[in-house]
This record gives sequence, C-alpha cells and structure tokens, in this order.
Amino acid sequence: MRVSRQVWLALVLWLGLGTIALAEAQLERGTLREGWGGGIEVSLTLSGSAPWRARVLADPPRLVVDFRDTTIGTVPFAPRKRVTAVEAGAIRPGWSRVVLTLGGPYTITTAEMRVRDQATVHVALDPAGEEAFRAAALRPEPPEWTLPKDPPPPAAEGTGSLLVMLDPGHGGIDPGAQHDSLTEKDLTLAFAKELQRLLVEDGTFRVALTREDDRFVPLETRLTLAREAGADVFLSLHADAVQEGEATGATLYTLSKQATDRAARIMAAWHDRTDILAGVDLTQNDDTVAGVLMDMARVETAPRTDRLARALEIGIKAWRIDMHRHPRQAADFAVLKAPDMPSALIELGFLSSATDRANLRDAAWRARMAAAIRDGLKAWAAKDAVIRPGLRR
Ligand SMILES: [Zn+2]
Repeated sequence: MRVSRQVWLALVLWLGLGTIALAEAQLERGTLREGWGGGIEVSLTLSGSAPWRARVLADPPRLVVDFRDTTIGTVPFAPRKRVTAVEAGAIRPGWSRVVLTLGGPYTITTAEMRVRDQATVHVALDPAGEEAFRAAALRPEPPEWTLPKDPPPPAAEGTGSLLVMLDPGHGGIDPGAQHDSLTEKDLTLAFAKELQRLLVEDGTFRVALTREDDRFVPLETRLTLAREAGADVFLSLHADAVQEGEATGATLYTLSKQATDRAARIMAAWHDRTDILAGVDLTQNDDTVAGVLMDMARVETAPRTDRLARALEIGIKAWRIDMHRHPRQAADFAVLKAPDMPSALIELGFLSSATDRANLRDAAWRARMAAAIRDGLKAWAAKDAVIRPGLRR
C-alpha cells in the first residue's frame, strides 16, 4: 500500500509542477543494479523534472516507467540477468516510455523522484509471488495516464484513383534494426516519403502514410488507419537485420499461416514482439464467426496479393536491383492481416549486410527502388482493374 501511495503522490506532485516547468526534459542517463537479495534497482536521470510514473505489467512481466513532456533518444542501459530486455523511446508525441522485461514476477517497493540540478527517478523492485504481482499488474490506468489515441490517418496526397497506404516500419519506442548510425525506423520513414513523392508525381495513385514522424504505431492501428482511409493496397516498408546466415538483397513477404522457412517465421515473430513489450494492449480478439469470415475474405484476396508480390518482384528485377536468393517469402505477419486489402511487406535490404547498408545510404539506389515499386504497383493495378471490374473507383 505504501508503495502505490508513494507513486500517486509523486504523480500528483509532478503533474502539478509539470504545468509550470514547460521545457521538454531529456533522459540523460540511467543505471541498472541487481542486488544480492534478488532485487532490481533502476535510476533514470532527466535534464529537468517531468510528470512520471512507474508500474508493472504482465505477460511478460515488465517494469514500465512513463514520462510526459520528455524525450528519450536511446536505451539507457543494457539488459542483465534479471532484466532480459530494455526498450526506450517515444510512445506518443510528448510521451516516452522505458520498458524493462523482467525475468519473473516482481513488485515495486520504492518509486520516487529526487530533484537537484537534474531529476532522478529511482525504482526498486523485489521478487514477488505470482498473486501479488498479478494484482499490481492489473491495477487500472488512472485517466491522466491513458495514452492519447492515434490521430486519424493523414490525408492522402495525389489525384489518382487508387489509394496506396505506405507503412514505414517501426517508430518511436520501437527502433527496429540498428547498425552503426543506421536505424530501421528512420530509414523506412525517409524512404516512404521519397516513394510517396514519386507515386504522387506519377498521377496513378493517391498515397497516405501510417506515420509521418517518429512515433510508435501499434501494428493493428496501422491496419485500422489503412481501412479508415479506404486504402486499396498496403505496403509495409522494412530494412531488418538477421542473426543467422548472410541474408542480402530485397525480399517480398506476404501473409501465410505457414511460414516459408524458419527465418521467415522468426522475422514475423520479431515484428509482433515489440507491440506486446510496448505495453499497449491490442490483442485482436476476433471471435470464431468473425475469424471464419475474415479467413474467407483472405482467401478471396490471396490471389490479388499474390499478383501484387509478383508484379513488385518483376518491377524490382527490371531495375536491376539485387534480390534475396528467395525473393518471395511468406509468414504470419500481423501487419499483413487485413482481410480485404492486398498487402505486402518489403524488406528493402538487410541492415546486417554491408552491401545492403551501402545501398540504403545511396540516394540513387533508393530512387531506383522507389521507381521499381512504382512500376510494380502500376502493373499490378492495371491487371487488377481488368480482373476485378468492381474495383473501387
Ligand atoms: Zn522491420
């Protein structure tokens, strides 16, 4: 009891002060200590005070520390034994989150902010029984900490009849793959904007993006944004890293319950993971009937999706862009699950490959890739209009 009172007291205090101290704080550093008694101690130092809170979440057990009016550039420390993963970054504009994945059930014993020149949040956790942990994790969100909803999808640009929804992979707290100074979330956003410009110039398409800045957008929200915008086709853009093998070259993924191979299955699982860790609850719970209807719609959409991937492959090869030795793959990607909208995920290249990194840095290569995707989309759209005369005008 003492714990939660302390947390809420701190919250009320800092919400009050936060309205006076308007300057945006920055997370400057952090430390993670694992004590002899099995406990965990975290401290996070900000450039100035900001409203904050700490809580635990379940499935998997996590400590979440949220800050408002605060920017977090990088992960403050590396995981250790009892903390198996650390994520940090923006979750909504002006809202940042640090997520520690815990090796088991823990509860918060201390949570306080000390302010001198800087403001430091200290959180201490001790191992707890499953029941005490669940009770803490299930505590409802106070209204002032309910995350603001994503804004409606940005208006599409262009005059064409077909609406393309481009989905720059990752964003905010979820950086995606990282290598040297390259971060997947930045690359995919920059490329999506370049591609948008090219597609709009062409005149065949209208184009909208699922995110236009560095923000976290849950996978299911990306689909909702596409549906609400009335998108005709959905392209998710990525540049991941792979742990095993020497993957190189562009790859096209489409949805399938049966993954083409182990690597494809790992790729899909990795993309679904951050959604859970970010702590935004979005479990898509279609009941059985809805599930059957969605499967039927997907069966109807599958050949159109197949033609989309094939047209993109032809487009990319026509521009003499190197593709992966298995250029077409399939896996159970959450972001490709729209039942009635042909969807594909393009790995532009792999950040784990030196060749691909050089390509992704090269503006001329990116322009060729954008042109290849444009040509693929145009070829697909022309064919799709003939095969499906009822297609939305
Ligand atoms: Zn990715």
